[in-house]
Amino acid sequence: MSSIKTDVAVIGAGPVGLFSVFECGMMKMKCHVIDSLDMIGGQCAALYPEKPIYDIPACPEISAEKLVEQLHKQIEPFAPEFHLSQQVTGLEKLNDGWKVTTNKDTVIEAKAVFLAAGVGAFGPNRPPLEGIEKFEGQSVFYMVKKREDFRGKKIIIAGGGDSAVDWAVALADVAEKIYVVHRRPKFRAAPSMVEQMKALAESGKIELVVPYQLSSIEAGEEEAIAVNVSTLNGSETRCIEADVLLPFFGLSMNLGPILDWGLDLDEKHITVNPATCETNLPGVFAIGDISRYPGKLKLILTGFSEAAIAAHKARDLVFPGEVFHFEYSTTQGVPS
Ligand code: FAD
Repeated sequence: MSSIKTDVAVIGAGPVGLFSVFECGMMKMKCHVIDSLDMIGGQCAALYPEKPIYDIPACPEISAEKLVEQLHKQIEPFAPEFHLSQQVTGLEKLNDGWKVTTNKDTVIEAKAVFLAAGVGAFGPNRPPLEGIEKFEGQSVFYMVKKREDFRGKKIIIAGGGDSAVDWAVALADVAEKIYVVHRRPKFRAAPSMVEQMKALAESGKIELVVPYQLSSIEAGEEEAIAVNVSTLNGSETRCIEADVLLPFFGLSMNLGPILDWGLDLDEKHITVNPATCETNLPGVFAIGDISRYPGKLKLILTGFSEAAIAAHKARDLVFPGEVFHFEYSTTQGVPS
């Protein structure tokens, strides 16, 4: 298996990993970015894309989705290469850097590694339905990227938390029909959203299938999928045919292999020297939510600053012996 050679391997395409590409790029360091999600943006994209953020400097209000879009635009001149839908599983010391491997057999050799892994690799909590994998990405989705993708569709939403209720309401005006399957009559979501969902249920746009739980999934006769649901004691069953199933049972966040790489840890965070953001492994930096030092604030703006600090230090590893003259971006400009 041939390995990719680069200057910096960035583990995590959340806001901080993305901005680190900019900081590295300004110092002529090329980055490869790996993320277990099939999209960039980390928590911003996966957990709260449409929520407004108010504490990004010079942006009085920006949605999380827009922030990710702008970060992506800002790093385009540096042409980072993304390796999405794969988890970094291995980190191995080389003579002049580090080897990073993923569960999809991507191998990257880099002079420095930036761990921008937030709270760990995200993955959906899958409902235990036999054979569900073969419908994933076709008619089963664990996240909604664009409402428009669901226009005119019959949708089954499973779950009773904020995501299930928020998306039932948000998709109601584009979907043909929405079924909300939940095992209890009571929903664990913001009361105002539950009220809106119930009002839509009264108008017939949403059908509340409660108290039911998913029991199996198969190809549908007329629609794409047939989902069987049953009451908790199994006494009543029902088959719902639909185009799409959206199970919202939360995301699991798993630091997983990172815990085994010999890094100094403090309650599932990586301890760094705040002057450089370097970990106890020379050439391995931790930035963003995953890093810890006295006074650490888990904020996007803190992570941006850490990305700049780490990039300045990593430059010494990528271009050893070269004298570095600090320049403002106003002086330097960006490549066109
Ligand atoms: P993340 O955004 O967590 O991204 C890390 C990425 O690394 C993930 O995509 C993950 O899949 C990937 N990853 C991890 N391990 C691996 C691995 N082994 N292999 C491959 N990929 C891996 N912050 C603010 O500053 N202002 C706010 O107003 C604000 N509001 C928030 C609202 C909510 C609802 C939430 C949940 C958070 C909010 N935050 C806010 C916090 C902010 O989102 C985080 O501080 C920020 O996302 C951290 O960025 P990050 O890049 O460090 O990590």
